[in-house]
Formats: sequence, C-alpha cells, structure tokens
Amino acid sequence: MSELKPPIGILGGTFDPIHNGHLRLALQLRDKLGLESIRLIPSARPPHRNQPGASPGQRAKWIRVAIAGEPGLQLDDRELIRPGKSYTVDTLKSLREDLPDTPLCLIMGSDVLAELSYWDRWEELVEYAHIIGVPRPGFESPMSREMREWVAKHECTNPVDLRNSLGGKVYLFELPLLDISGTRIRETIATGNSPRYLLPEDVMRDINELGTYKAGSARAHGRRRGAARGAQRSR
Ligand code: ATP
Repeated sequence: MSELKPPIGILGGTFDPIHNGHLRLALQLRDKLGLESIRLIPSARPPHRNQPGASPGQRAKWIRVAIAGEPGLQLDDRELIRPGKSYTVDTLKSLREDLPDTPLCLIMGSDVLAELSYWDRWEELVEYAHIIGVPRPGFESPMSREMREWVAKHECTNPVDLRNSLGGKVYLFELPLLDISGTRIRETIATGNSPRYLLPEDVMRDINELGTYKAGSARAHGRRRGAARGAQRSR
C-alpha cells in the first residue's frame, strides 16, 4: 500500500476553550507517530453535552490564535459550516472524500474512548479512520466489556500499521499528558481565579477582555462528564 500518503491526525472537541492539554497532546502525537499534521476540529453543536459557553466562532478564533506559528497544527472548520448536529462520523466521511489516499487518525482521550459506544453510528468510525486512544490524566475511565472486546478486535500494537491502511485500527498510546480540561479553566475563571499557564496567553487575554466564563454566565460550569449517559449519545 505504498501509494498511501502520510497519515494525519484529527482532534475533534468542544475546545471551550482550547488549552495546553489539547496542544501538547496534538504536538506529541504528531512527533511520536510521524503524522503529517493534526487538524483541530471544533464541534459547532455537540450532541452529547451542555452547549458550550463560548460561541462556535469564538472557539474557532481561539484555536487559530493558539496554533499560529505552528505549521503542524491546523484549524478545520467543517463542523462549523455544516448545519445540524456535529456528528463525528459525518466529519470523517467528508474528510475521506477530500483526502481519499490519506490514512486518518482520530485522536481521543480515554474519557472519550470509554463512552464511544454512545456516539451516533460509532461502529462506522473505523470505516473511515484509525482511532488513537491516549490516557486522560485526572479521569478514571474504565471501558465496558463491549468496548474492551471491540478495541481488542481492532487493536494494533505497531504504529507502522497506521500507515498501511486508510483506517480500521485502534492504537492505544501511553504518553505523559497534562491534567488540564476546559471544565477546570471555566471553573477557575468563574471563581475569580487566574487560568494563566493552563492555556495560551493570547487566548487567556481575549477571554478576560470578553468576560467569557465569568460568574453569572449561565454556562460557566457546563461540563460533559457527569451527565446522564443517555444524554451523551450521538457525538
Ligand atoms: P470539557 O472539560 O469542557 O469537557 P475538555 O478539556 O475535555 O473539555 P474537549 O475539547 O472536549 O476538552 O476535548 C477534545 C479531546 O481532547 C477529547 O478527546 C479529550 O479527551 C482530549 N483532551 C482534552 N484535554 C486533554 C488532556 N489534557 N490530555 C489528553 N487529552 C485531552
């Protein structure tokens, strides 16, 4: 399969806001797996959680600011343009149409991987992409038996395999990551404390100027985890 192009990484999320945990994750995977680039894809209307505190345009702008000067990281705004809920399987389908010869590596923290079976058409994801699971610091994310079996069926242990097919594999990658989350940043700001060093300085400055996530903002504490499981279905 030498005609395949080098693989790229796909990091979807709410990015409410983007933080150094996302950025270190993306950069480390790019370097350690030899990915050509990583696309950061903000979800416009995440189906599985409270709606974000910042608007889709604002979250995309902060991604742009955060990755300026880092050519290996790119903003992909296709979910912002597409109407309706932001289902990942639809995003992968459209990426596959744009990049027919490029292996796609869908990156997710263990917190997300453990809940994958609640996503819309989740078993189709590997028809379009590989899945890269990474440990999420600060989260206990045990997988259900169904998920463990599904992972075992698709698992590869040699990352070279990710280059030899367009998708279909699950690779679990142990690497040290930062214990930072959007929830922690929103809560830090809402309680009047400084989120400095958890996220890029320029993004923090913009958030301060706009007053996003300040106490009183209805969505300052909105978070995905802890919601009823049924409500998480269909990412
Ligand atoms: P929230 O706290 O609002 O739920 P979040 O910080 O978990 O937000 P998302 O934007 O929803 O961020 O996450 C996008 C993806 O990045 C998910 O797959 C998530 O597991 C992963 N991720 C986020 N932060 C980290 C981190 N510090 N280390 C590893 N993976 C992370």
